[in-house]
Amino acid sequence: MVTLAECLGDCKPKIGVYALTSCYGCQLMLATVQKILDIAKNVSFESFYMLSSESRMPADVDIAFVEGSVSTEKDLEELMEIRKHSRIVVAMGACAVNGGVQSWSEGEKTCDELHKAVYGDEKIDMKPLQATPIDKHVEVDYYIHGCPPEEDELMYSISTFLFGTFPERVDYPVCAECRLKGNPCILIERGAPCLGPVTTAGCDARCISFDTPCVGCRGPVPFDTAWFDSLAMVFKKKGLSKDYVRDRMRIFGAHEDKLDEMLDKIYGGNE
Ligand code: SF4
Ligand code: SF4
Ligand code: SF4
Repeated sequence: MVTLAECLGDCKPKIGVYALTSCYGCQLMLATVQKILDIAKNVSFESFYMLSSESRMPADVDIAFVEGSVSTEKDLEELMEIRKHSRIVVAMGACAVNGGVQSWSEGEKTCDELHKAVYGDEKIDMKPLQATPIDKHVEVDYYIHGCPPEEDELMYSISTFLFGTFPERVDYPVCAECRLKGNPCILIERGAPCLGPVTTAGCDARCISFDTPCVGCRGPVPFDTAWFDSLAMVFKKKGLSKDYVRDRMRIFGAHEDKLDEMLDKIYGGNE
């Protein structure tokens, strides 16, 4: 990739910002970061529909930021093209990283059942697929968690690329930030169904700081360190049922392969 230090004259890293099936919240966050104009001076946005209708898809870029899950055949085709035309692919946000809330039915309901529930007998002009994270289909170089990611995370990621280095993935849970803020633990003190112990940090424990238990929107802590079983043990002691706990953990964690195995370990297979 071209670093700023290597750039002379008009040479700027080329960036593409793309959306698959998503709410567009991640790219809206990127488009509205306070320093977007400073960033724009140092890069060339080859494709960013929210900023310019002259965007094209896919463009040849150094870095592609991709939001959204693969939920249609068109998404899949576009993602393949994006990968082919990009030196670095970054999964941006919970939909791209974890499949997003639209993955909650993974392994439980078929596309046809979901279509029927939402659209009835209406026909729509798309071929749906079960929603999946983008790394189920293409190699992903870097990940930015969040629904949407925090402004400082987006700034951090872009800045590291511009300086020719790379963003480190957050590998610790929301609890770490929650304790640093001095919040009382609403899980231990009140039995609130807080997913902070298994959720990737970076939001500065936003919800708990407003007395609301974490629902896990930043996705499970990566590198197989989301210990759903340990948390389930606490939830079980607090009187929460397996179905409730499983449903809650699957909102943003339905693609975690070991989730059911870990829950079965604590609750048993049929409870
Ligand atoms: S991660 Fe959240 S904010 Fe980003 S596109 Fe998905 S639903 Fe929207
Ligand atoms: S309130 Fe939630 S995030 Fe905070 S320490 Fe307790 S379990 Fe962790
Ligand atoms: S506390 Fe949990 S649900 Fe709230 S923003 Fe952070 S990760 Fe998302």
